[in-house]
Amino acid sequence: MPLTNVQTRDVEALLHPYTALHTLRDTGPLVLDHGKGVHVYDTHGKAYIEGMSGLWCAGLGFGDEELIAAAKQQLDRLPYYHLFGGKSMEPAIELAEKLKEIAPFEASKVFFTSSGSEANDTQVKLAWYYNNARGRPQKKKIISRVKAYHGVTIVAASLTGLPNNHRDFDLPVDRILHTDCPHAYRFAEPDEDDAAFTARIVANLRAMIEREGPETIAAFIAEPILGAGGVIVPPEGYYQAVQALLAEHDILFIDDEVINGFGRTGNWWGCETMGFTPDTISCAKQLTSAYAPLGAVMVGEEMYDAFVEESRKIGVFGHGFTYGGHPLGCALGVKAIEIYQKRGILERVRGLTPQFEARMQRIADHPLVGEVRGKGLIGGVELVSSKSTRAPFDPALAIGARCVANAQKHGAILRAVGDTVALCPPMIISASELDQLFDCLEAALKDTLADLPAGALSD
Ligand code: PLP
Repeated sequence: MPLTNVQTRDVEALLHPYTALHTLRDTGPLVLDHGKGVHVYDTHGKAYIEGMSGLWCAGLGFGDEELIAAAKQQLDRLPYYHLFGGKSMEPAIELAEKLKEIAPFEASKVFFTSSGSEANDTQVKLAWYYNNARGRPQKKKIISRVKAYHGVTIVAASLTGLPNNHRDFDLPVDRILHTDCPHAYRFAEPDEDDAAFTARIVANLRAMIEREGPETIAAFIAEPILGAGGVIVPPEGYYQAVQALLAEHDILFIDDEVINGFGRTGNWWGCETMGFTPDTISCAKQLTSAYAPLGAVMVGEEMYDAFVEESRKIGVFGHGFTYGGHPLGCALGVKAIEIYQKRGILERVRGLTPQFEARMQRIADHPLVGEVRGKGLIGGVELVSSKSTRAPFDPALAIGARCVANAQKHGAILRAVGDTVALCPPMIISASELDQLFDCLEAALKDTLADLPAGALSD
């Protein structure tokens, strides 16, 4: 089909993130115009259920009047200010207080950024600063995991454990290590149950720490449920064993709650769902329900004390972003947390979870589906060429992308992470809208199976 005028303007003017640039010039983008509730509408007026809350972020859906009013009010009052050099403003103070109240550990201070990547970059800088302040200049390496996603700035992309984020970008940088991905379906040996798999990968982590020397390891970073790596739910007992191991070696546990945070898994934080307590947290996305860009890092008293000491020595804590703690983002963050509380969004997610799980289980029997997984209102459907051997499809077939394109035809926006189809609908979704979303996915799976190239299935 020839490109429409707006599509032509797009391909002439925009460099798109995370896009197959070589095909976009022919296909053109899907141009969205407006949104309401769980739906977004394209420029032709076609409605789609946003089954991914955008990029796992618009948890309160689109066109929320209370959020919009809070934004307008803040823009009228003070559209911009910053927190540098001893300045402050009420929205940042109030949001920091609210975050401390709901934090799953003894948070002492909140540092604001504009994004999740900046939050994780900040985490690494803070871990280095902290260890310099503590007189441990060797303790600098950060352990991340294969298939982790922590963002795209140079250090955050290095923490990310996905080949396409490294390849030809000359990454990862040094001092970043990657340990096993805690995904039993993909990485357990045939004779290993969850417990044996967990024991093996935790032993590998211990061996890595011992090989490198614990005195050289500053921190371990983890998303409680890995998102962009394929919605991976680690086995029971994994985080408890990891946490104990880190404590043994005085290694900070950085919890990346950028996707998991603010109710997505049925609790405020994914670490509560997965049963561990971090030393520090990164968050973003649902912090403002994505109505404005904002990220945050929360640290405990001990880290804060070290920053104060180091600042005394140097004369300044020399880190900060022009838009970190932007009043618009902070006012939206305050309002979003208020809405999560007063509209009972966490309870809502818990209430919808059995339906979400039941519809996922129904899909599990489909001939293309190897594994379904998730917690709360986040899930992944992994498509495989053989149910019995778990063999993946040839990546060149782009089966996940085909399935997502078919879902789009049926009126649902989903996202393929490799051959895993991710679901992360707005947490305000109703039971009937959730059914419609799964109906679209089932129809998409049917179409994908019907159009499968001969010989693609190996069962
Ligand atoms: N951390 C996690 C777990 C994420 O999923 C993302 C983005 O998807 C990021 C960090 C990076 O956030 P941003 O895209 O706001 O930089």
